[in-house]
Amino acid sequence: MRAPDAITRLGLTGQLFIGGEWSNAAGGETLYVIDPATGDILGQVACAGAADVDRSVVAARAAAQKWRGTAPETRARILLRVADLIEKYADQVAALESMDNGMSIGLAHLLSVANVAATFRYFAGWATKIDGITTQTNLRDVHAYTLREPYGVCGLITPWNAPLAIASWKLAPCLAAGNTAVLKPSEETTLTALFLGRVLAEAGLPAGVVNIIPGVGSVAGAALAAHHDVDALSFTGSTETGRAIVRAALGNMKKVTLELGGKSPNAVFADADLDRAVPGSAMAIFLNSGQVCVAGSRLYVQRPIYGEFVDRMAAFARQMHVGPGARTPLDLGPLISQRQLDRVSGMIERSLQQGADLVSGGKRRGESGFFMEPTILADVRQDMEIVRAEVFGPVVVATPFDAFEDLIAACNDTTYGLGASVWTNNLSTAHHFAGQIKAGAVWINTHGVMDHHLPIGGYKQSGWGRDLGEAAIEGYTQIKSVIAQLDPGPRS
Ligand code: NDP
Repeated sequence: MRAPDAITRLGLTGQLFIGGEWSNAAGGETLYVIDPATGDILGQVACAGAADVDRSVVAARAAAQKWRGTAPETRARILLRVADLIEKYADQVAALESMDNGMSIGLAHLLSVANVAATFRYFAGWATKIDGITTQTNLRDVHAYTLREPYGVCGLITPWNAPLAIASWKLAPCLAAGNTAVLKPSEETTLTALFLGRVLAEAGLPAGVVNIIPGVGSVAGAALAAHHDVDALSFTGSTETGRAIVRAALGNMKKVTLELGGKSPNAVFADADLDRAVPGSAMAIFLNSGQVCVAGSRLYVQRPIYGEFVDRMAAFARQMHVGPGARTPLDLGPLISQRQLDRVSGMIERSLQQGADLVSGGKRRGESGFFMEPTILADVRQDMEIVRAEVFGPVVVATPFDAFEDLIAACNDTTYGLGASVWTNNLSTAHHFAGQIKAGAVWINTHGVMDHHLPIGGYKQSGWGRDLGEAAIEGYTQIKSVIAQLDPGPRS
């Protein structure tokens, strides 16, 4: 097995992190690390099989009682050290993420360093504030209270589009609440997860509290989801895989949290500040080459400004830097894989066959790597695949609207419900929109902005439960009622 040079230089071997030690997969399997900017194989890392999932769960179970009993302040201090170390190693973390996922270095610094450090700090604060309540009851001579307790061992399955950020959204609250974890990153992006193993050890996290096992979803992911000694499972990825996870979890009825696909509408009213709405709507879909769960992939523009708006957005798209060497968050890196490039290209092609009009983009950029032009399609119908299915590429469909009611009906005409945004200078319009949209997040005069204080998750088939915010702590704890019958007291 040969680990990519860049991670070898960082002291990583590309092995699995189980029970505080680095080891090869039991069956000796490996995964290729592929540079999406070139298609070149950079090296290999260990690939966990079902036996490795078992080893990891055993290690997490062995560490569970001690970690749960660790003083909340000690847990908080460790999480704060993790945040400090992520910042200390900022350049390495950003370089690894950019190399593995293809996102620009600038975006990697925002998403995989600043966001991750802030998330660990935020949940470090929660470690000392996870309380039950004392409560009145209708029972006589009873003292009653609730406790919030960790589940025990949590399986965490993460995708490739924001690898370390999403891992931190799950790990930080999971650990703050006193759970132990087995993290399975996507087979497409393993490097920052493995680097995190090194950071956690350096921060003083006891062995076995977190185990990190890159592996193939249908093997390691499926084994983790089905494992009878995993108490809770948190997943981010496609709705289809979410369904498979729910079925697998039925065996021991583990608690499941899902952050799934989206087809988020982005609505622009004629009174909007177009100087903000045009770049804002473009980045709503093109950021990270559209590989964002809340990407604003359905654009609805009020008819009087529709033509001008689409033209201006196309002009914005045409001047974007697409190709190797992406540096700023505005630059577009490659899609994650040849498979994803083929999937996105196929969806564009089918939409054109069905009568969509190509306003800009639509083609692969360059001969090597998996780059896709920022693409705008118009003249689409609500029943087309390109309007209904998650593309997960830099592709937006534009549609005009007239009345507010028509807009709301079109926005909500989807099986998904992750996010939505509205651009308008009318406060009433904005808040009526926010109230009537069936989605877990609504943005007004911005799009996709997230903060660790605020929960993120889906209505409808976009998921169950929430990442981030206090809601995440609720997701990693279960509540117990304690009812004590006292001796009869004095009666008034
Ligand atoms: P998946 O949902 O299949 O992958 C997400 C994670 O689940 C990965 O770690 C994957 O591992 C794992 N996984 C795959 N199959 C199983 C399984 N049976 N049991 C347990 N875990 C499993 O997404 P894909 O990578 O296949 O991408 C396909 C589409 O999914 C994208 O085009 C996009 O539309 C959507 N997607 C949405 C995301 C979101 O945030 N909403 C994120 C990623 C994808 P492995 O990578 O090894 O297969």
